[in-house]
Amino acid sequence: MKILLATHNRNKIIEIKNALSGSGFEILSLNDMPDLPDVVEDGDTLEHNSLKKAREIFEHTGITTLADDTGLEVEYLNGEPGVYSARWAGEGCTYDDNNRKMLRELEGVPEHLRNAEFRCVITLYGKDVLKTSEGVLKGRIIEKARGVQGFGYDPVFIPDGFDLTLAEMSLEDKNSISHRGQAVKKMAEMIMKIKKAD
Ligand code: IMP
Repeated sequence: MKILLATHNRNKIIEIKNALSGSGFEILSLNDMPDLPDVVEDGDTLEHNSLKKAREIFEHTGITTLADDTGLEVEYLNGEPGVYSARWAGEGCTYDDNNRKMLRELEGVPEHLRNAEFRCVITLYGKDVLKTSEGVLKGRIIEKARGVQGFGYDPVFIPDGFDLTLAEMSLEDKNSISHRGQAVKKMAEMIMKIKKAD
């Protein structure tokens, strides 16, 4: 049996493949499917977008598909940027543009009001299969970007219980606590159960 990962992102592919190693599933990604149309992520929740991605790709390929969607929810900004995290600073923006906007929006805001969380929702969609998992990483937005590892908002986010930003941690350390790491682990456990029930 095959599972198609609805992503081109090499790090996500490695992380999910590792979590599912030994499951007996053949793991494919969008890099193996060059001719698929892009899925428009126009939902207003992470749940909606991850389901839409998984369902549309399954409908095109007939292969059980796993899709994730992640957002950073900042308490002081009433949950923004959330589902709009990727293009928050505008169409075509870079990670740096988003981080600069974040630091600007929170300029002068005291530490106790800078709480934020990454939330990742994963959906597995196939014939007679619909499963969802979620992972959350709580922390806070700092005042000045630090670190060069990782991607996205990693340089401005410190997880609770740590002094380092996600961009100052090794990929391995980040994956062991991250929102996506937790959601992947829960989904992998569900997938292993499907396999055993076969
Ligand atoms: P995606 O759903 O994984 O593509 O994530 C959407 C956006 O959320 C990305 O473009 C990043 O800006 C941000 N993001 C997702 N995961 C992470 C992470 O682990 N660290 C920092 N930013 C992230």
